[in-house]
Amino acid sequence: MTKILRKAFLEHVGQTSPSPMMIEVARAEGVFFYTPEGKPYYDLVSGVSVSNVGHGNADVVRAVQEQAGRYMHIMVYGEMVERPQVEYATAIAALLPDPLDSIYFVNSGTEAVEGALKLAKRCTGRTEIISMRRAYHGSTHGAMALMGTPEGEEWKNAFRPLMPDVRSIEFNSFDELQTITSRTACVIAEPVQGEAGVRPPVEGYLQALRRRCDEVGAMLVFDEIQTGMGRTGEMFAMLKYGVTPDIVCLAKAFGGGMPLGGFAASREVMNLLTVDPTLGHITTFGGHPVCCAAGLAALNYLQEHDVVAAVEKKGALYETLLADHPQVKEIRRSGLLLAVELGSSEKMFAVMEMFAREGIMSDWFLYCDTAFRISPPLVISEEEIRDSVRIIRKCLDELQSRA
Ligand code: PLP
Repeated sequence: MTKILRKAFLEHVGQTSPSPMMIEVARAEGVFFYTPEGKPYYDLVSGVSVSNVGHGNADVVRAVQEQAGRYMHIMVYGEMVERPQVEYATAIAALLPDPLDSIYFVNSGTEAVEGALKLAKRCTGRTEIISMRRAYHGSTHGAMALMGTPEGEEWKNAFRPLMPDVRSIEFNSFDELQTITSRTACVIAEPVQGEAGVRPPVEGYLQALRRRCDEVGAMLVFDEIQTGMGRTGEMFAMLKYGVTPDIVCLAKAFGGGMPLGGFAASREVMNLLTVDPTLGHITTFGGHPVCCAAGLAALNYLQEHDVVAAVEKKGALYETLLADHPQVKEIRRSGLLLAVELGSSEKMFAVMEMFAREGIMSDWFLYCDTAFRISPPLVISEEEIRDSVRIIRKCLDELQSRA
């Protein structure tokens, strides 16, 4: 059965690379997923920062089942008053800093970015968009155009022409902030860069970025698609740094395991998408009631169980338990988002094979294949952290013995 399924997977399911992981999933629970043979894997990726409340979270499953039984899709986004949408938007608005009080729901991260870019253009009447090097914001034409040079060129060149009037600057470079000018519609940045291999901002950088945007009337867009919903130890990474953007993009864990994205702005700014022209941004499935119910249940779970407050301590424990291994060159970390730097891609790929054998799910980063990722569900227990580190260290020892 498994063999037939794998063959059909390769034949009929569109592929993203010539070498998919090919691990068949039978079920998932907490911080584990299992193959049909019952082999457990520690999920140290969380579907790239999605499964923050753990797999099979009972509250989320119940919310999904109940909402699916009540109603699913009724009408295109924005026309009907749907309780899950309204309640979730209200709850998120209460957590976001002022003046971000209006959430436009979409289906994914890349769509949230597309919406944010359109809103920034509409609001400023300008066209230039500035992104950060080694940023990843999604794979649709607009979001792909934001992939920072030079690392993004390979991807971008194959699909040109992309969105014009896009430039990238170096994250954490104070000097390059001067290139943001009165031509700039917006600067888009992750408060902590994810696919660059976990690069937190240096002291004062996000504040300086905010100031420069204000000086020239450019909008600041934060992409919190990977950092949002508690990953960095605050509900949103921007709260850690005390910097409020004009627009923030959310997705991944935002849907509690279901596909959901959104971009938030002030009501006044957001209203610009509704006039001149009306229907400036539309989506059929955006804010699907089942996805909003799941997202709200996940948010409630995070809050009721004080999950986010424990994130920093858990991340620090991983760091402490791994930092002294001779194969580990550096650990870059923000909350429970860690890049464990091995210094070479050969080592990283070798360790990845060992992880698969030993039941550890990790991966590398789009722009950094010399480090492996640790971003487990935020609900991981101390015992599970210690046990997963035991397996990771065993693999690192094997790497060491090969040297
Ligand atoms: N922004 C960031 C920071 C991401 O990490 C990703 C996905 O990895 C995206 C945007 C795109 O999200 P999606 O895959 O849901 O389109």
